Formats: sequence, structure tokens, C-alpha cells
Amino acid sequence: MGVLGVFGCKDAAEITYYGLHALQHRGQEGCGICTTDGIDFYRERGEELVTEIFNERKLAKLKGNCAIGHVRYSSKAIGGLDNVQPFLFRHHTGDFAMAHNGNFVNSRQLRMSLEAQGSIFQSSSDTEILAHLMKMNRRKDRIDAIEEALTMIEGAYAFLILTNDKLYACRDKNGLRPISIGKINGGYIVSSETCAFEAIGATFIRDVEPGEMVIFEKGKDPASILFTGEFSHKMCAMEFVYFARPDSEIEDVNVHTFRKNCGKYLAQISPVDADLVVGVPDSSISGAIGYAEESGIPYEIGLIKNKYIGRTFIQPSQELREKGVRLKLSPVQSLIAGKRVILLDDSIVRGTTSKHIIRMLKDAGAKEVHVRICCPPMRHPCFYGVDTSTYDELISATADVEEVRKIIEADSLFFLPEEYLLKAGNRTELCLACYNGKYPTHLYQSKVDFNIEHKF
Ligand code: 5GP
Ligand code: SF4
Ligand code: MG
Repeated sequence: MGVLGVFGCKDAAEITYYGLHALQHRGQEGCGICTTDGIDFYRERGEELVTEIFNERKLAKLKGNCAIGHVRYSSKAIGGLDNVQPFLFRHHTGDFAMAHNGNFVNSRQLRMSLEAQGSIFQSSSDTEILAHLMKMNRRKDRIDAIEEALTMIEGAYAFLILTNDKLYACRDKNGLRPISIGKINGGYIVSSETCAFEAIGATFIRDVEPGEMVIFEKGKDPASILFTGEFSHKMCAMEFVYFARPDSEIEDVNVHTFRKNCGKYLAQISPVDADLVVGVPDSSISGAIGYAEESGIPYEIGLIKNKYIGRTFIQPSQELREKGVRLKLSPVQSLIAGKRVILLDDSIVRGTTSKHIIRMLKDAGAKEVHVRICCPPMRHPCFYGVDTSTYDELISATADVEEVRKIIEADSLFFLPEEYLLKAGNRTELCLACYNGKYPTHLYQSKVDFNIEHKF
């Protein structure tokens, strides 16, 4: 999921539209924009891509110079327009809109306790919980109310809250999801990824810090509040490995450079005699370039991606997913035939993609296919908003590396150990829970839901 906010800019809706377009890779199941002119709120949303939902006529209806927007990727397989953000809340103390990226781990407890106190929920989204928590609080000051509500939530979030005169950007205390601030046309922009700044001509200022709320208000410099004393820098490793666009900078590290480093380390610790290096487009191209540079083995565009097909992962059934893989990628037969190929990929989740690609390369005449993965085996579900939420979806939860190699029919298989992810990002902390099971928060009910026997 991705969020984007604009504060104090002419054409806020249009800027948000272009910004969301740059964040489209973070979610293709729906998107929306909500604006305010200081008096009323205006909203458009739908269950399609940014370019399909918005047009000039619709953007013209989104009046005002403040906006928030959202691109949706459902981590809980719950669809429907009701769950498409931004949410808009009408309240006698002032209307407000919200957009959120991430997932709470204590949502069930919070929901039950709020319902017991009289709340009625309109959606199954976590975002609404924060709205209710804010309003349960009878204190007058809105900032205090938001601050207190944020301290009650556990999990991963980058939140945007838009009122008629302010924009609030909040980030969870572990900093699991990225969110950055930029400057544009005398106003401000906040985005899940900095690639949106480039797209609309904004200048990066800084990241919102873990446990921080930044408040934008007309005629004032942005104000900052740390709503917790306990924070860490456990950015989601998968943001670097897979989700983010290579041209984004996350916490001062360029995503392409991170991935290239991962490929370089793979070449150092897991060399193999081969004729060419191929990356699975798009997320593994950087890793493949790094591997090729370090090993001296030529990099080739051995796989071509059809740009007009969405990510295979978001398709619902296994059968469709399998079809999707074939529609999406084609091997360049004349390059592959008779060659020993080193295939770089970002991650293996179910193993479906790797298996199909390897078969495709072999059908195209590859003599050998050696798979190198730019992260460790994913052995544990993610409870922070990523669609790997059960042990039985994860091939590496029950199969060791040699078993996975056999299943995907690779000639060899190697996963990058987690310490190299830290090294690639030149940092000491990351969330690595889907590899090592060390979750940065309590898990509450989440663990019970997915209590399947696993091997590691
Ligand atoms: P699978 O092993 O499940 O067939 O496919 C894994 C591939 O799907 C990864 O290489 C990655 O490119 C892509 N992918 C799509 N969505 C996600 C996601 O949410 N998490 C991860 N780790 N990979 C994803
Ligand atoms: Fe990211 Fe994995 Fe942590 Fe989830 S468990 S936040 S996917 S690193
Ligand atoms: Mg991939």
C-alpha cells in the first residue's frame, strides 16, 4: 500500500494524482484521493488503477490545496469499495480524512473494546480503528487525542490524517513502513516513497522518524511530536528487497544500490561457473547487475516482461497465478539456448514463480539454471501488511533449501543470509521477522490464527 499527502499547494489533487501514479507498484487493487478547501471535503475512489479512475473532470471536482491519496493492496483478501481509502469521517468536532499503509496486530482487541463502548464500524480496515480511538477520547485537543490513540496501536503504520486546516503524518515506533517529506511549490508533500517526489518535481527534505508525528499547518513550519519514548529503526527488509521502486531512497539508502549490493554479495559468497546472469524483471534486475559486475559473467536481458500485466501475486487463485506467470514473462530463446544461466530473484514465497521461470528457461534450451535469491528463506508469516500471512503459503516454512531446490527444479539454489541485508543497507537494524521469526512487536491474536506446525 502507498500513501501520499499534499499540503498548501495549488492543484493539490493533480499533484496527488501524479504522485499516486508513481506509487502504483505498491498496490493495484484500488486507489483514492480526498481533498479539502478548508471548508468541505471532496473524494473520489475506486477499485482500479490510478489512470483508470481519475480523469480531468474528476480531478476538477477535487477542490482545495490540501489532499491525501492512497493506493491499495489488500493484505487480507477483503475487497470492496468500502475498504478503499482515503476514509472520510463526518464528526461534529470537524470532518477528517485518513489514509494508512500497514497493518495493526492488536486490531481485534481494539475493535472489540471499541464496539463494547458503542462504536459501529463501516469497514474491516484497520484505519477506521484509529479514527474511533481518536474520537473515544473526550479531550478537547486534537493533537493529544491523536497522540494517545497512536500509543494504543501496535503494528506497522504510516498514517496520513487530513483535517480542514492541518495534515498529520505519523509513523509507527519501529519505523516498519517508510514515509518521507518533501517540498513543492511553497507547500509540502508526504509520500510512502521518494520516487513520487521525482515524478512531480518535489525536493526531498527528510523521513518521518519512527514514533514521530509531523504536523503541517498553514503559515507555520512543520511541527514534530514524538509520541513514544521507545522506538527503533526496524524498517521492513522487504521494502528494500521487493516492494520499493529502485529509484526511491529509503532512510538515506537508494533501493537500486541496496539490491545491487545484494547481488554483489551473492557473487562473493556463492559463485558459480556459468555463461550469463539473468534477473527476473523488475525487482531483480539490480541484483543481477550487481552479481554480473562482481563475477565478471555477462548480464543479459534473458527474460522480457510484458509491462501491461499486473503483478502475479495479486491474482486470487493459484491457477490464475500460474497463468499470470506465463503471460507476464517470456525468455529470449536465442540468448538462453545452450547456456548455463545464473538466475537472480528477489525472494521466494510460494515457489510458484521460480518453478515456472526455471521451466521456461529450460524449455528455451538453458543447459543449467542456478538460482540466487537476494534475501534469506521466508519461513515466517508477516503480520505487518504483507500478503504472506500463513505458514502454509510459504514454501520455506516446511522445506529446507535442498528441498526447495528440488521442488523448483533448479541446478543449484542459494539464499542471501540476513547479515548481508544489513550490510547492503549499511545499517544495524531491519525487520527480518519473515526470515528469522523475531517480530518487533507483540503478535496478540495473529499468532493464534496461523498456528500451523512449521519446521524451523
Ligand atoms: P512465489 O514464490 O510466491 O511464486 O513468488 C515470489 C515472487 O513474487 C517474488 O520474487 C516477488 O517478485 C513477487 N512478489 C509479489 N508480491 C510479493 C510480496 O508481497 N512479497 C514477496 N516477498 N514477493 C512478492
Ligand atoms: Fe517486512 Fe518481513 Fe518484517 Fe513483514 S515480517 S515487515 S515483510 S521484513
Ligand atoms: Mg520476483
